[in-house]
Amino acid sequence: MQDYVDCPRRFQLRYVEGQAWPGVVAEPFLENERQLERGAWFHRLVERHQLGMDEALLSASIDDPQVRDWWDAYLAFEWVHKLEGGHYPELALDVELGGYRFAAKYDLLVDTPNGRVVIVDWKTYPYAPSRRWFAGRLQTRLYRLLLVEAARGFLGREVSSEQVTMVYWVAGDGRALDFEYSLQQFDEDRVFVLGLVREVMERGDGEWPLAGEDRRCGYCEFRSLCGRGNVPGSVDVLCVEDANSAGWGLDFGFWDVEEVGF
Ligand code: SF4
Repeated sequence: MQDYVDCPRRFQLRYVEGQAWPGVVAEPFLENERQLERGAWFHRLVERHQLGMDEALLSASIDDPQVRDWWDAYLAFEWVHKLEGGHYPELALDVELGGYRFAAKYDLLVDTPNGRVVIVDWKTYPYAPSRRWFAGRLQTRLYRLLLVEAARGFLGREVSSEQVTMVYWVAGDGRALDFEYSLQQFDEDRVFVLGLVREVMERGDGEWPLAGEDRRCGYCEFRSLCGRGNVPGSVDVLCVEDANSAGWGLDFGFWDVEEVGF
């Protein structure tokens, strides 16, 4: 959905037409690939730690300095280690909303004893983008919304929007940004998200609108197809704000998600 908001044409090429286009996302190509692998590796380490695996054993398995730095920063993030309640890492939820099926994969959900449910999302960015940038992300809007909708099926009880908090933790600078939720925001998100899906469903077969900003094209594999240049962006100057374009997220699909019973 973030792809659709960033550029309807990219969404069409990637998900509607399934276009395989051999454009390089960023250069040096191997460094970008390596960075994606490091991110996935870090997420696996944290998942295992949250499941209770031995910290020393996990630490000993790391032979990459970048992953080591992220891991050390994670271990120093005391707040999350002291957070009481049931910890559910890498939890995938599937919800029907307005007649459409939505799926979200949470890095970590914590069901705390006072009824508050905390969503924690690990970002392997070198620094934390602004609060405003995070607040506008589809992930922020959708993950809180889907949690409220799926709570009964997953936790066996209702969770109000006021009981939901989302925390982004950034490995590069160790910053944590928290986002509370409210009934008003929940209502706005529901209308917004369903409106987006309806818009997608109503689009025809012609070429969907291209991104307004060329900057979004620098790290997009379709740039030559769209006449937006032939030169890939550089990994060295890749801003975290471009992370979605460069595929810096963990891919998953509906096939990875169990349906939640209601
Ligand atoms: S190159 Fe630009 S306009 Fe074309 S799909 Fe990618 S982001 Fe959209």
